[in-house]
Amino acid sequence: MDQPSSEQGPEAEAHLRSILATVPDAMVVIDEHGSILSFSAAAEKMFDYREDEVVGRNVKMLMPSPDRERHDQYLTNYLTTGKRKIIGIGRVTTGLHRDGSTFPMELSVGEAWLGKRRIFTGFIRDLTERQETLLRLQDLQSELAHVGRVSEMGTLASSLAHELNQPLTAVATYCESARDLLENDPDAETLAMVREALDEAAEQAVRAGQIVRRLRDFMSNGEMERRVESLQRLMNEANALALVGSREHGIDVQLSLDPRADLVFVDRIQVQQVLVNLIRNAIDAMMDSTVRCLAIRTSREADDLVRVTIEDTGSGINEAVAPQLFQPFVTSKQNGMGIGLSICRTIVEAHGGRIWFEQGSNGGTAFHFTLPSGDTKA
Ligand code: ADP
Repeated sequence: MDQPSSEQGPEAEAHLRSILATVPDAMVVIDEHGSILSFSAAAEKMFDYREDEVVGRNVKMLMPSPDRERHDQYLTNYLTTGKRKIIGIGRVTTGLHRDGSTFPMELSVGEAWLGKRRIFTGFIRDLTERQETLLRLQDLQSELAHVGRVSEMGTLASSLAHELNQPLTAVATYCESARDLLENDPDAETLAMVREALDEAAEQAVRAGQIVRRLRDFMSNGEMERRVESLQRLMNEANALALVGSREHGIDVQLSLDPRADLVFVDRIQVQQVLVNLIRNAIDAMMDSTVRCLAIRTSREADDLVRVTIEDTGSGINEAVAPQLFQPFVTSKQNGMGIGLSICRTIVEAHGGRIWFEQGSNGGTAFHFTLPSGDTKA
């Protein structure tokens, strides 16, 4: 077999072998055509293939769609343009295990020359465990944030009630005295007092308005860091996160991303939170289905908006919860918090978008949301 070390003599070969056997991360070396040249012991364990089964085969066998179909093109693009999309950058993506399941992984690719031959080395770290911990943390954080917000709102509401009470009582008092003063043929002096009372009442009403406005500003003043982001990139990461643990459930994920809808002007973390919530709800809804297909689509909408659709072949929306689906604490799950969709709506609306659902074409549910396009704001 064509080994990268064959040109370096037996000593280098032995050296390389010992590295491959002990390097803790999975390491896969390929040639310019994507053929696997070597496969470390950790890679054998991670993908469940022996080195002799994969050497000489195209590395795309270790990737799920759509990377599987596109990898040859990625390589050709790099070889012809020299434009680096992953080499030296690294990214979170998805790997394909021998049994057909997928898992989130971090991939770093390096490039090296062996004489006149160019090889690529990929270091792969399985993120399943790390992502599971991260997800648990995120869940906890969002629950905490929610509890925090509820009690903050509680404090705010009682102080608001207190603050509003003053001007409103004053308005009532001034109006009542004006009415009393007008009762018995008021003289000029009394009329002046009535005018004064009405001025005061108007002033207090304006003050009440300011208090309400302050509350509105407070509510809409979420901390957002918006940038022009690639939806594909954002989606890949969110998918890797959301699909943790789904490998046992045999879920078929179909991505269809419209390149004209790629750039969005958003807070990356918040939009990923929306995606992760919707994908996990979709997975939950498909647990009792025989067909488990998750379709994720993007498309360009009018008015500089991009639409994201997440459609499942699950149970459909429970009728009891459907009318208030986006309200907090509405859930049909035994252990559900019922806050996922309300957080999704808050985030999407803070971006100037809209979120809604429809019955899916396959009996399941399709959630849609819109985001501002990044094309015009770039
Ligand atoms: P939770 O998941 O904690 O219940 P959510 O706010 O995310 O909270 O969801 C609220 C409810 O909406 C769920 O309990 C479920 O009944 C329903 N739901 C959400 N997504 C779907 C879906 N894809 N298919 C069917 N029902 C769904």
